Amino acid sequence: MQSQALNYSPRGIILLLLAVLLTPGCILLPTFEGRPANPGGLGAPFEDGYRDFKGVIHCHSKYSHDSQGSQEEIIGAAKRTGMNFLIMTDHPSSKAIPRGLKGWHEGIFFLVGAELSQGGWSMLALDIRQYLEQDQPTQQLLEEIKGQEGLAFVGHMEGVKTWDFEGYDGLEVYNVHADLAGDPRLTMLLKALFLPPNFFYASSVDRPSRNLARWDELSRERKVVAIAGNDAHANVKLFFGVAGTVGPYEQVFKIVSTHILAKEVNQQALRDALKQGHCYFSMDIFGDGTGFKLLAQDGHRQVIMGDEIEWSSSLELKAYSPGRGRIKLLKSGQLVHQVEGQLLDYRPPGPGVYRVEVYRKGRFWLCSNPIYVR
Ligand SMILES: [Zn+2]
Repeated sequence: MQSQALNYSPRGIILLLLAVLLTPGCILLPTFEGRPANPGGLGAPFEDGYRDFKGVIHCHSKYSHDSQGSQEEIIGAAKRTGMNFLIMTDHPSSKAIPRGLKGWHEGIFFLVGAELSQGGWSMLALDIRQYLEQDQPTQQLLEEIKGQEGLAFVGHMEGVKTWDFEGYDGLEVYNVHADLAGDPRLTMLLKALFLPPNFFYASSVDRPSRNLARWDELSRERKVVAIAGNDAHANVKLFFGVAGTVGPYEQVFKIVSTHILAKEVNQQALRDALKQGHCYFSMDIFGDGTGFKLLAQDGHRQVIMGDEIEWSSSLELKAYSPGRGRIKLLKSGQLVHQVEGQLLDYRPPGPGVYRVEVYRKGRFWLCSNPIYVR
C-alpha cells in the first residue's frame, strides 16, 4: 500500500483491522498543509544568482545488505517529491560505487558515496570514486576519503563516543532513521497502525537537540557543515517485520530534505556548496522550505550561510522564511533574537557563529548553516 506509512504484511493487516475495530475515535493532531511553497522544488534565483536546490542525502539501494530498493524506485520517488539532486550512500560493496546512480537521471543529479560503519555511528563518504574498506581506524579512513577527493560527514553522530578524529567536513545533524528509532516501539507501532503517513511522521519527528548542541560546540572552533540524512532503505522493519515495513522511499524523502544554494547543479557545484556550508535542511513534513535564506550584509558586501565575514557596527544579518513561522537567531547555540513572521533582521553586537532555526506551528522546521562573523 503505497499511501500508508506501513507496507503491511498479512499479519499486519489483521492487527490493523483488529485495532480499527477496537478504536473508538480518531486521534487529533495539528495539521500542516502539505502544499510545497515551490511545487517544482526549484526556487527562483535570488538577486545574487544563487538558486535553491532541494535534495536527498543518505540513501541506500539493493547494493546495501539491508535494502532491496531498485534504482527505478529511487528515481521515481525523487521525481515525485520534487528533488533536484540525490546522494547515494550504500554500505560498502564491490558494486555500489561502479554501478551506483551518478550523473543525470530523469532531471535529477546523482552523486555516489558510501556509508562506512564505525561501530555505533558511520562515516558518510560523499562523491567518491572507489570502494573504501570500512574496517580501519577512523583517521585513516578520513585520509582515504580525502585521497579520493570525497567529502566526509559524520553520520549517526549521536553514536560517536570519542571525537578523536579530525578533518571531516561536517555532520549529519538529523537522521530520519535515528529519530524514529528513538521513540518507544509500541507507541510507534500504534501510531503507524492508526495514522496516515503524514500524521505518523509529523507526530514522530523531533528537533535533534543533542546533535545540535554538539554541532554548536564544534562550530566554535572551525567551520562544521550540517546536513540532514534521509537514511532511506525502504525496509525499516517493525517488530521484525511482523507488523510490516516503515518508509518506502517516497515517504522518507517527504520527511526532510537538504537544500544547497548554488548557481547550478552539477558535480562541482554540489561539492562546493556542501563543502562551504551553503546549505540548510528543511523538515518538509511541515511544509516545503524552498526559498529559505540567511545572509549577512555590510554595505556592498554580502555573504550567505556557510560563509565568513568581518564584524563591523553596520553588519546586518537577515533571514527570510518561505512561510510564516517563529524565526530564531542563535549565537553559538544561544538564542539572541526571535521574530514571528517571515523576515528577521539583526545587527550583531560582535563576532560569533550565527545560525537560524524556524519553527512552524511550534515544530522545528528549518535549520540553516551558520554565518561565521569574525
Ligand atoms: Zn544508512
